[in-house]
Amino acid sequence: MAGTEKAWRYVVRCDLCDREAMYKVAAVWSDGLMSELKTYALACAEHVAELYERAQRRRGTYRPSAPEQIGVLGVYVLERGKRDRELRRARELEEQLGAQPAE
Ligand SMILES: [Zn+2]
Repeated sequence: MAGTEKAWRYVVRCDLCDREAMYKVAAVWSDGLMSELKTYALACAEHVAELYERAQRRRGTYRPSAPEQIGVLGVYVLERGKRDRELRRARELEEQLGAQPAE
């Protein structure tokens, strides 16, 4: 039967493997008027450390020009059906990964 797998609207997959992503590596981006989460990576539990490290390197070389601003890189727990601004940060995991504390 075609179409039966459409019950799930979408499954977010890890950038490095075929597993379902559990985390979003992202930073809050703002242009002074509005803000949103800029996604750097989607990761399963196994690959979150590697993807976070890669994202930090990319984040480090990016220089926003005013009034554009970009916040510290965070790890957000993905929950199906939740909007970006409802996502919870995985602070303990961020600490394990050596995140810089917010200034
Ligand atoms: Zn993975």
